[in-house]
Amino acid sequence: MASIAILERKCTKCGACINACPFGAIEIANGKPEINAGCRVCSVCVKACPESAIIKLETRAKSVDKSKWNGIMVFAEVTGGKLHPVSLELLGKAKELKGGTHHEITAVLVGENLSEHASLLRYYGAERIFVYDDKELSYFRAEAFADQIADAIKFAKPSVVLVGATALGRSLAPRLATRFHTGLTADCTKLEMRENSDLVQIRPAFGGNIMAQIITTNTRPQFATVRYKVMNAPEKTDAPSGEIVTRKTVKISSPVRFISQSPVLKSANISDAEIIVAAGRALRKESDLNMIKELASLLGGEWATSRPLVEKGWNTNARQIGLSGRTVKPRLLIACGISGAIQFTASMKDSDHIIAINSDPEAPIFKCAHIGIVGDIYEIVPELIRKIKEARGI
Ligand SMILES: Cc1cc2nc3c(=O)[nH]c(=O)nc-3n(C[C@H](O)[C@H](O)[C@H](O)COP(=O)(O)OP(=O)(O)OC[C@H]3O[C@@H](n4cnc5c(N)ncnc54)[C@H](O)[C@@H]3O)c2cc1C
Repeated sequence: MASIAILERKCTKCGACINACPFGAIEIANGKPEINAGCRVCSVCVKACPESAIIKLETRAKSVDKSKWNGIMVFAEVTGGKLHPVSLELLGKAKELKGGTHHEITAVLVGENLSEHASLLRYYGAERIFVYDDKELSYFRAEAFADQIADAIKFAKPSVVLVGATALGRSLAPRLATRFHTGLTADCTKLEMRENSDLVQIRPAFGGNIMAQIITTNTRPQFATVRYKVMNAPEKTDAPSGEIVTRKTVKISSPVRFISQSPVLKSANISDAEIIVAAGRALRKESDLNMIKELASLLGGEWATSRPLVEKGWNTNARQIGLSGRTVKPRLLIACGISGAIQFTASMKDSDHIIAINSDPEAPIFKCAHIGIVGDIYEIVPELIRKIKEARGI
């Protein structure tokens, strides 16, 4: 950690630092220059000060004894009485990371009426399942949930904590990482474990232009959030294993009180869709999306697009597939007039069946498609619609 300090006894208040700071992070307060929250510790002011009255302070990051932190903990999210499927995907990843090592896989459940969920987790590789079951935890309050998970972490001392990058997970993980003064990498798409238990957390950065590898070198636990449908859920084992550990609920001191809840109208969630018909820049006008929507609706699926159609304002980011949109893994994806740029395919290539329709036989989308149709979407999509309707007598 580094910071900038102004030595009052040397400062002549000449203003050179204020003029030099590119972030406007030095201002006059109480008649003297002070550093504000905008400071990026770039040190331009240090060099600009003619009196050497500004210094850069370095504090060495506290490091922990890594050998005291072992295993992988998964936060198993329960919302509305249901176990979020990302929890099983995280257990699958934990199993992979464990490999042949001694790392123990644990899971934490927080909520009310959790016994069924705890029993289920025993079929998915959790070796110990910590359960915090309390009617006060029947609805989500970030501080109260964080208290319980922090208790499990202090008890089990895992080296890694995996949390789903859901709305709830995104609210919890930073709170927990702050409490343990450790690192968090959000929205990881790939995770690898080094022999020294450092977790290599890989995620797109700079708008998807690079894949960054992030490591928490000095502190533990290592927190990572992972988006839903990025990792594979493991197969359910035939026999349950793992121990259910009922933990005493940590006293709930949250000032937040539950009064009532009303469901928000569910917006399209292409991440959960089993069937997706996606359109690309081949579409000539917005109303042509109607044929894509009609095909999706006839197949009982959702419609989506590549990014250019979002940029044109024909769609919103919620239905955009890609690194800067959503990751999807449906049973069937029909890509209509989409070239197959890496930023698109990276987020749909794991779909069970991919059918690509493109007029260019060399289009990269054919490399990841299971069935490729070389042709004009304006002929093929209406023909598909016609055939489906004919078969159904519509
Ligand atoms: C940082 C960054 C992040 C990005 N994130 C995303 C993202 O999340 N999602 C995303 O989609 N893109 C993203 N992109 C953009 C990506 O690089 C591509 O530009 C984009 O995916 C191309 O969309 P497209 O395939 O629809 O269009 P194009 O590449 O223009 O392809 C159109 C295709 O349609 C075919 N075609 C044309 N007419 C017809 C027809 N009548 N019938 C059949 N086929 C036809 C063409 O042969 C062509 O292959 C990102 C780019 C950057 C730099």
